[in-house]
Amino acid sequence: MTSQKCVALIAHDQKKDDIAAFAKANEAVLARWKIVATGTTGGRVQEACPSLDIIRMKSGPLGGDQQIGALITTGEVHMLIFFTDPLTAMPHDVDVKALMRLATVYDIPMALNRATAEQLIDFHHP
Ligand code: PGA
Repeated sequence: MTSQKCVALIAHDQKKDDIAAFAKANEAVLARWKIVATGTTGGRVQEACPSLDIIRMKSGPLGGDQQIGALITTGEVHMLIFFTDPLTAMPHDVDVKALMRLATVYDIPMALNRATAEQLIDFHHP
């Protein structure tokens, strides 16, 4: 990956409409970032925002969250926008927690809901 600032986008299933709407509303700002996403989220965001160039990892339950966690450890992901669903049990809950843990360990900006994501994307210009 290049040295361009990179944001990771992830949303749980109940939040995928929200992240697609968030991306659409912020398409011009997101275009300044390199964007990585978990597989299904990336597909939804790409559909909503054809102008964006999104690098898609595996789907979250198949290791995509861990792939993004690894990119945080190597300094290749600089911000995490993760619309989590607090009302549904996830088979990959441990991966979700591990990803949040790494974002904390490496002290990168992390938004877990849309209200915070709107603030972060406004505040952090690459
Ligand atoms: P998905 O993964 O974008 O492939 O659905 C997100 C997740 O559930 O962690």
